Amino acid sequence: MPDDDLKERIRAAVDIVTVIGERIPLKKAGRNFVARCPFHQEKTPSFNVNPERQIYHCFGCGAGGDVFSFLMEHDKVSFPEALRTLAAKAGIALPDRQSARARTNEQARDIYYRANALAREYFIAALNDPAKGEAARRYLERRGLTKETIATFGLGFAPDAWDGFMSYARPKGLSYEVLANAGLLVQNEQGRFYDRFRGRVMFPVVNDSGRTVAFGARTLDPAGEPKYLNSSESPVYQKGRILYGLYHARDAIRQENSVLIVEGYMDVLQLMQAGIRNVVATCGTALTREHGAILRRYADRIILLFDGDEAGIRAASRAGDVLLEAGIEGHVALLPGGEDPDTLVSAEGPEALRSIAERGMPYLQFRWETLARQNNLATISGRNRAISDMLDVIARVDDEMLRGMMANQIAQWGVTDETLVQRAIARRRRQTVRREQEAAPPQTKRWAPPHREKQLVAWMMDRPGVCQQVAEMGVERFSDPLLQEIAASLIRLKDLGELPSAAALLDEKREDSRWAGAVAELAQMHCDEREIGRAVTQLVASLQLPHLKRQIDTLRARLRVEKGIRETIEITTEIQRLGREMEILNDLLHSGEN
Ligand SMILES: [Zn+2]
Repeated sequence: MPDDDLKERIRAAVDIVTVIGERIPLKKAGRNFVARCPFHQEKTPSFNVNPERQIYHCFGCGAGGDVFSFLMEHDKVSFPEALRTLAAKAGIALPDRQSARARTNEQARDIYYRANALAREYFIAALNDPAKGEAARRYLERRGLTKETIATFGLGFAPDAWDGFMSYARPKGLSYEVLANAGLLVQNEQGRFYDRFRGRVMFPVVNDSGRTVAFGARTLDPAGEPKYLNSSESPVYQKGRILYGLYHARDAIRQENSVLIVEGYMDVLQLMQAGIRNVVATCGTALTREHGAILRRYADRIILLFDGDEAGIRAASRAGDVLLEAGIEGHVALLPGGEDPDTLVSAEGPEALRSIAERGMPYLQFRWETLARQNNLATISGRNRAISDMLDVIARVDDEMLRGMMANQIAQWGVTDETLVQRAIARRRRQTVRREQEAAPPQTKRWAPPHREKQLVAWMMDRPGVCQQVAEMGVERFSDPLLQEIAASLIRLKDLGELPSAAALLDEKREDSRWAGAVAELAQMHCDEREIGRAVTQLVASLQLPHLKRQIDTLRARLRVEKGIRETIEITTEIQRLGREMEILNDLLHSGEN
């Protein structure tokens, strides 16, 4: 592969500790670094970064790999993108020779980035146009946004014309089809294209790397419908995975270990401007489990900051349910009736809002109190309805521990027996599980092959000699299919005259995170060089012995039914040979025990 050198240069130039440390807080622990795992939910750190091997691995969820794998998983980028990010960081120029498929993929996405960048440029120019942009500038000013905020977030204006952006984009070499697929143009039934956004203030939505992927747009016409319009989804924009403001908020979110979810673009900007920077919003869509999982990587505390009216309470309940399903108990903070974040901050200052957010109630309690208001808990039927509604929510939580604690809590609040609550939840879960099993394939289980097999494959890494021994034994002696595959790859590398290293293994399957996790786990295993020679022989022996024993048993069974003398002699000889082999192995296995 022509890119091998380059990849090696990049790998050598960047330090995995620095790269990961820029994304999650790492603590030194002995020779390694630890953190709370960004890929699963946990209270105590089981995420390990090994600077010596330049590998990370989580003992909790099994995630792992090298610096490239980390970027792919964490930043949700492709291998070429990870390569490019790290090359830029290391100051290494990337020649233009990626694999054809990766290039097509990238080119395909690149055109959508270009379309959105072009639109952003056009909208900003229109906003700054003395005549065209006046009404929009006045609107933004009225909403209290400063020039700086407007510039930082790239706000713009789409003039009220059917072909404003179209005529701007025409000479720039992007087809109308592409612009329509990017969600910027619409095609009518006659096949004619026109601008999607007209007479609207434009809020660019940016992805993890700060590139514009979509727009939210607010009408300037008081009677205009809809009030907010959003780009349609495109190859670079899935609204269920993108949060407005996250790119600018993530450092603050990490620092404060908490994030506020507000209802709209304007709320995000006004709060940021007021110095409350750990704030995001969905892009005109309901919160998804994926949104929750993304935020969870940055902060422990997720606060839903919504209006105190009925609509706000309903919205908070929907979002809170989704978070719960993702195993996250959010908090809910409601604004006093009639206030929105902006009016509150301008009337009482950012501290007032902060303290409302701080006093946010754990979601379960919020949900129960809402139900208590809707049902008369003094009556048995009212209490039953409230408990039943609550159980529907809890039954969807996958985290068993969390579910148990919640059941306990509900039993207390509803003044009922805990075992009854547990049983009702279990019943609901059986029903949902049955429904889901029909719809979706089962979740993959955590990888757990026998320890001695893992140990042996770990010792094969970087050691062609051990690879040779295992090759002679045969990889089919491993009971675990994934280990068989890894061992076979190591042997193949050795046969090619390459170093059978973890890095080379990771390169074999760049898109397979299960593979990367397993390789990292093996690479992390402790190997005492002084022990290795004897230990490997013993491990090989211990894996061989059961196999020999099975062979002997089969031969003995044949012997019992065999009538021919020559065959009987042959089988007996073979049994004796295998028996001697077993003895040798047994000796090896027990040598050094005294
Ligand atoms: Zn983990």
